[in-house]
Amino acid sequence: MFRNCPDPIQLSAYLDGELSERRWLKIGLHLQKCSACRDKLAELEQVKKLVAQLPHRPAPEIRITAQQSPPKAAGKRWLWASCLTAAAVLLLVFFVHLRQPQADDVAGEYLRIHRQYEQQLAESIELLEEVEAQ
Ligand SMILES: [Zn+2]
Repeated sequence: MFRNCPDPIQLSAYLDGELSERRWLKIGLHLQKCSACRDKLAELEQVKKLVAQLPHRPAPEIRITAQQSPPKAAGKRWLWASCLTAAAVLLLVFFVHLRQPQADDVAGEYLRIHRQYEQQLAESIELLEEVEAQ
C-alpha cells in the first residue's frame, strides 16, 4: 500500500475505461508495483461480473388505489358523528321549542321536527348497535 494509491472510485473508473489516457497510464503503472491495489482491482472486477450476472427485473409498479370501503372503525366513527350531530340538533330544536311556548303553530312544527330527529337518533343507535354486534 502506497501513499498515492488510487481510491476505489478511481480503480472502478480504470476498470470501466472512464479515465483520461494520462490517468489510465498512471494507475496502470501504479498497479504494476502495488499488490494491494491489484487485489482491490480484482475484487472490483469480481463485483462487476456478479452484478452483470444479476437478472434484469423491472422496478415494481407502485399503485395507489382508493380504499373500496372505509375500515370498520372509520364506519363506527362516522356513526358516532351522526349520532352526536343528531343529538346536538335535537337539543337545539328542543331548546328553541322551550323558548317559544306561546306560539302553538310554531311549537307544533318544532315538536314534529323534534320527533323526527328523535326517530333518526333511535335509528342511528340501532344501526350502531348492529355494527358493533358484528
Ligand atoms: Zn496502491
